[in-house]
Amino acid sequence: MDKLEFKSYRSKLNKTQKQMAQLLGTSLKAIHSYEQGWRSIPPAVERQIYFLMSRLNSKKKTRKSCWDIKKCAPERKKQCPAYEFKTGDLCWFINGTICDGGVQNNWQDKMRICQS
Ligand code: SF4
Repeated sequence: MDKLEFKSYRSKLNKTQKQMAQLLGTSLKAIHSYEQGWRSIPPAVERQIYFLMSRLNSKKKTRKSCWDIKKCAPERKKQCPAYEFKTGDLCWFINGTICDGGVQNNWQDKMRICQS
């Protein structure tokens, strides 16, 4: 997530910088730094923002499970933590998923797959 995306999500969440700091459990200075691009946005912060956004959007529609959308074979589902922990609508939140045939090395690689 870059600084423009961060600002855009804060706007969609309808939060001031101070409210965003409280929501993310960080300082106002950190929010300034993210939005100015002085500090990169940590994966834990990015993940929390996506989680909050998903909860806003969940009012609009009932979500199907990822394994139904992607038509995962039973063998794949058995190996995937998203299926193991029944998080079919939050698979992006869980590390170790295997959508692309294997576990990704880091959060950024995983997010590239999830966002596509
Ligand atoms: S997260 Fe796991 S269960 Fe969901 S689509 Fe990807 S591989 Fe299938």
